Amino acid sequence: MTPSQAPKKNYQRALEEILRGLDPEAEAPTLLLHSCCGPCSSYVLEYLREYFRITVFYYNPNITEDEEYRKRLAEEQRLIAAYNAQVDEGVFGDMHSTGRAHRIDILEAPYDPEIYLEQVRGMEDLPEGGERCTKCFALRLRKTAETAAAVGADYCSTTLTISPLKDAQRLNRIGEACAARCGVRWLPGDFKKKDGYKRSIELSRIFDLYRQDYCGCVFSKRERERADRAAAGTEGTADRI
Ligand code: SF4
Repeated sequence: MTPSQAPKKNYQRALEEILRGLDPEAEAPTLLLHSCCGPCSSYVLEYLREYFRITVFYYNPNITEDEEYRKRLAEEQRLIAAYNAQVDEGVFGDMHSTGRAHRIDILEAPYDPEIYLEQVRGMEDLPEGGERCTKCFALRLRKTAETAAAVGADYCSTTLTISPLKDAQRLNRIGEACAARCGVRWLPGDFKKKDGYKRSIELSRIFDLYRQDYCGCVFSKRERERADRAAAGTEGTADRI
């Protein structure tokens, strides 16, 4: 049976089972949460900061253009600062979080797009969603699991499943395998479920976050530009992350 033929798992339900099993009286477990950008992490952080002491792990060598990488990182940092201000002040306004929310840390890995380019060599012209993305997910989730083991995190996971364009089955399978190899628990998830993607758009508006319209690598950017040119005159550009 190939991975694509494997029965689909409900990763949102698996996450909820873990959350239900946590002891609210005990100290919250730690979670190293890989994140690609502020908008994708907005809902995941709002949701999970009640349950975990989260460190956002910013490891995205797939964002091949330096300026874009720095812009997304700065937005991630700005969002985390805003969430931490809510915790410090005990004021949550329209947030779904309550006074049980924890502060969030961020850990940025060294930025080296050459590592990504090496991984996907020969796959530059594949469409988004194909084998190039599998390599890209594996690169980022492997590093996440290794870092979680190195820092002694209780769990590791990623925000990537929030995107309707990303295959949550594939991401979770890769994440589980990487975590198992490193002896860390993988926190399953499919964050687009339960209106998570919709909420991420609302939160991006609330925090005035920059929302890019392509995934990250220069190949996805070119694919996006080609699609925009093809649609020129008939459709506007849509948000797409
Ligand atoms: S399209 Fe996105 S997930 Fe796929 S290889 Fe490029 S950056 Fe990675």
